[in-house]
Amino acid sequence: MDKIVALCKRRGFIFQSSEIYGGLNGFWDYGPLGTELKRNLKDFWWRRMVRERDDVVGMDGSILMNRQVWVASGHENTFTDPMVDCRNCKSRLRADQLPEKNGRKQCPVCGSFDLTEPRAFNLMFKTYVGATEDESAITYLRPETAQAIFVQFRNILEVSRKKLPFGIAQIGKAFRNEINPRNFTFRSREFEQMELEYFCRPENGLELLEYWLQERLRFYRDIGLSSESLHVHKIPPEECAHYSKGTYDIEFEFPFGIQELEGVAYRTDYDLNQHQKASGKPLDYFDEESKQHFIPHVVEPSAGVDRTALALISAAYDEEVVTDEKGKSETRTVLRFHPRMAPIKCGVFPLLKNNELLVRQAREIVDQLRGEMMVFYDETGAIGRRYRRQDEAGTPFGVTVDFDTIGENGPALRDTVTVRHRDSMEQERIAIKELAAFLGERIR
Ligand code: ATP
Repeated sequence: MDKIVALCKRRGFIFQSSEIYGGLNGFWDYGPLGTELKRNLKDFWWRRMVRERDDVVGMDGSILMNRQVWVASGHENTFTDPMVDCRNCKSRLRADQLPEKNGRKQCPVCGSFDLTEPRAFNLMFKTYVGATEDESAITYLRPETAQAIFVQFRNILEVSRKKLPFGIAQIGKAFRNEINPRNFTFRSREFEQMELEYFCRPENGLELLEYWLQERLRFYRDIGLSSESLHVHKIPPEECAHYSKGTYDIEFEFPFGIQELEGVAYRTDYDLNQHQKASGKPLDYFDEESKQHFIPHVVEPSAGVDRTALALISAAYDEEVVTDEKGKSETRTVLRFHPRMAPIKCGVFPLLKNNELLVRQAREIVDQLRGEMMVFYDETGAIGRRYRRQDEAGTPFGVTVDFDTIGENGPALRDTVTVRHRDSMEQERIAIKELAAFLGERIR
């Protein structure tokens, strides 16, 4: 994990938020490469979950909502972790994560047994809307994106004219005042979620839960997480939320252990029911066949952008010893991202930076590819060094413009370039006019 954190900082995937002021615990900034990685992940989720389907539409809700949303959803009263305080070192600790010694709960920080009784600690960040900071102005930064979908259910049903089963998808920020932000970005206080609420008839809920579990596993495999690194944990009924008729956690083998990436939960009609009761506005569905009104049930696959990005980086990280033509060995650090997720798809290199023809040709290739994919032009240093720098950024392809390209060694290889593959380090010769298609089909 230390190596991954160091690489993320060195190469500009992830920085500590407000770093020059000492940071802020649980908050992170994504640098140029991290931002591209997250964007590729979110775009692919959107493509799979919305654009490639007839039965899902998107929405983009506000982060602050009427406080009554959080009262009705149960978050104001119950979105809590039971906490204890250590009277000795004053640490605040999650009651369900305390180590025990001889049957007694112990403070993991100082070892004291002098702990308070567990108390509820609300995980929502409170804020005030408007000029006065009184009770009537209170609301919360949303701790999940899902509630905006539930409260807009009727509007979206009407405008989209969808029939059950259908879903509403959303990607956006969520905030939780986690007690113990840890494991790098895994548990943060500000993070992004990708959530789908898939509404259905009550009789189809259980079957759709299984369907969405399989769909989501397919998604993770398609972004390059191996089946062996993914685990499905079926939550025992007694540990499920009281309204849930079944929940799966999709877990990933992080360097710090097997941990949740996504929850796939069958939430029944709980949320729509709660909001219908609290708002007094109908949130039901009219079934034209049976001429009946009822509240749809919902299956929710809820994934974390940041956790998945961290999983992608962890899975991609590799070190290998390579030996060059002169017999010299060195360790190569390489991020083996699936090309679809890689922040930069292609590096473009003129063999020499002081040869005008090479540089001009390389620049033309950059211009040609730029509309299609993220490319990176690099002319400084030995070509081997430039390849290594892109290996560390996870760039799957390197294109080198050399003297053959500009026809200096005869016409046979004129207007062709070397394409170097990151994982195998093998090289092949491709015509410039075929480059966009060659790369395009490999990164989609
Ligand atoms: P955990 O048990 O790890 O706290 P959770 O079960 O509370 O997670 P959900 O409420 O199911 O999480 O949220 C759905 C998804 O949102 C999670 O699977 C995770 O990917 C993401 N997520 C939740 N909390 C955080 C967090 N503090 N930091 C980063 N991502 C998070």
